Amino acid sequence: MNNMLSVEDAQARLLAAATPVVESETLPAENALGRVLAARLVSGVDVPPLDNSAMDGYALRLAQADAGQWLPVSQRIPAGHLGQALQSGTAARIFTGAPVPERADCVVMQEDCESRDGEVRVMRPPKAAANIRRAGEAIRIGQTVLAPGTRLGPAQLGVAASVGETRLTVYRRLKVAVFFTGDEIVPPGQPLAPGRIYNSNRAMLIGLLNQLGVEVIDLGQVADSLDATLATLQRAASADVVITSGGVSVGEEDHVRAAVEKIGRIDLWQVAMKPGKPLAHGLIGKPGGMADFIGLPGNPVSAYVVFCLFVRPFLLKRMGATPHAPASFTLPAGFNRDRPGKRREFMRARIEQGQAVLFPNQSSGVLTSLAWADGLVDVDAGVSLQAGEPVRFIPFAELLA
Ligand code: AMP
Ligand code: MG
Repeated sequence: MNNMLSVEDAQARLLAAATPVVESETLPAENALGRVLAARLVSGVDVPPLDNSAMDGYALRLAQADAGQWLPVSQRIPAGHLGQALQSGTAARIFTGAPVPERADCVVMQEDCESRDGEVRVMRPPKAAANIRRAGEAIRIGQTVLAPGTRLGPAQLGVAASVGETRLTVYRRLKVAVFFTGDEIVPPGQPLAPGRIYNSNRAMLIGLLNQLGVEVIDLGQVADSLDATLATLQRAASADVVITSGGVSVGEEDHVRAAVEKIGRIDLWQVAMKPGKPLAHGLIGKPGGMADFIGLPGNPVSAYVVFCLFVRPFLLKRMGATPHAPASFTLPAGFNRDRPGKRREFMRARIEQGQAVLFPNQSSGVLTSLAWADGLVDVDAGVSLQAGEPVRFIPFAELLA
C-alpha cells in the first residue's frame, strides 16, 4: 500500500485546499445561530456594569460586623435598583444582582445572619469583599469577547447579548451542492425493484450539512453515465462546494472522475484507513471562478466517517471558521483484536461501564453501526489489542459539533 496517504496527510492536504469565504453580512443576532463571526466583537460595556451582590443577604462594612452586634437595617436594595451610600453602623438588605451600595465592603449571606424587626446581626463573619461580583470582572470595556472565525453557538450568542449586541457580522453562508450516483439507488418512498437499494447517503449527508449550517443544494440522484454525471456536475458548479457520493473509484461504472476532469481537475487519494479509502478533491470551472469538488465513497459508513474526519474540517475552514482538532481520549478496550489490521481502523463503538465496546458488525455497509455508536475507536495499523488495554476514542459529539 505504498501510494496510500496517511489520515493526517489527507487531512492536511484537504485543509490546505480550503479557501475561506470572504463576503460577510450583518444579521439580527437571533438569526446568527450556527453562523461564523466575520468581525471581532469588542465589548462596549463592563460586565457586570457595577459591583453587585452574589447573594441574598446584607451589605455592610466588615469592621462593623463583629461579635454578634445588632445593626439597624437602613435600606433595602432589590436587583435593578440603586441604593444610597451605606450609613455608618448600619446594614443594607440586598438581593442577588443588586448593586452593592457605596461604602459597603462585603455582603453577608442571609443564612449567616440573624434578623429581627429592622435589625440584623452577623453570626458567621464573612471574608473581606465576600459575595461581591466586581464591575468588569467578567468583561472589560474594550475587551474582545469573540474572535473572527468563531462559530456562533448558544453560549456565543449569550455573550454577544451580554454586551448588548443586536446585530452580528457573519460570513455569508457557504453553498454546498450534493448529488448521489448509482444506478442501484432508489429514493425512499418508491418501490424497491430487484437489485436496488434505498439511498441512505442522501438523508445522512444532507443532515450532516444542515448541522454545519451551510446552504444545501440537493440535486438528487444521478445515473451511472458520463453524460448524466457531467450535466449534473455543471449544474452543481454554481455552488461553492460540490459533494458527491459513490462512483468515484476507477471502475467501469464510476464516472465521477472522468466528468470532473472534463470541466476541471481532480486528485483521487487512497487514504490508509478503514472504512473509507477513496477520497477525491478537485476543482471545477464555472462562470467567474471555480467550485471545490469532493467525492465521498458510496458505502454509507465510509461516506459518514470520511465526512467527519476530512470533509467537515474542510467545510468549516471554507466557511471562515477556525477548525480545531476533535478531542479524543483513551479508555480500556472492551474487546479483543487478535489480528492487527493492515490499515488504521475507525470502529463504531459505545462506552459501556467505562470501556469501549464495538458494534458487532463493522462492515462499511452496515449503517446501523453508526446510529448505535457514540463515537469511533481509532486503532493504528499493525496493532492488536487485548481487552483492558487503552484505546483511543473519538466521540461523535466532537466529530459533529
Ligand atoms: P460506489 O462507491 O459507487 O462503488 O458504491 C459503493 C457501495 O456503496 C455500493 O455497494 C453501493 O451500492 C453503495 N452506495 C452507493 N451510493 C449509495 C447511497 N446513496 N446509499 C446507499 N448505498 C450506496
Ligand atoms: Mg456506484
